[in-house]
Amino acid sequence: MNNCIFCKIVSKEVPSSIVYEDEELLAFNDINPIDKVHILIIPKEHIDSLLTCETKHSDVISKMLLLAPKLAKNNGLKGFRTMINTGKEGGQEVFHIHFHMYGGSEHLVKI
Ligand code: 5GP
Ligand code: ZN
Repeated sequence: MNNCIFCKIVSKEVPSSIVYEDEELLAFNDINPIDKVHILIIPKEHIDSLLTCETKHSDVISKMLLLAPKLAKNNGLKGFRTMINTGKEGGQEVFHIHFHMYGGSEHLVKI
């Protein structure tokens, strides 16, 4: 996808603090963290959002989710939160699907 910031992070055109990479996935620190640890997990393939996900994406979506606890452990978290903003009305700002994984605060605000 031409003008997508996360595709540019995948291609390394735009630098990021990468914490994990394999053939299908990339994970990097959020540029504007909301917690002590705040990592974005993305597929290398451009998918706009959960709204445009199809059954063919099940495998990569599942791998993204299963990566979260591994990254949490690597970062010393015993527990963490995940968030997926979907669509403009759902607070999504970057239209390349991503899972937020964050945690580390001593004072957890329950939502
Ligand atoms: P959204 O609201 O779409 O779920 O969240 C987008 C997230 O991407 C935000 O938390 C924002 O801080 C992060 N972000 C946006 N642009 C960049 C960037 O160029 N580099 C990194 N590392 N994070 C970004
Ligand atoms: Zn993209």
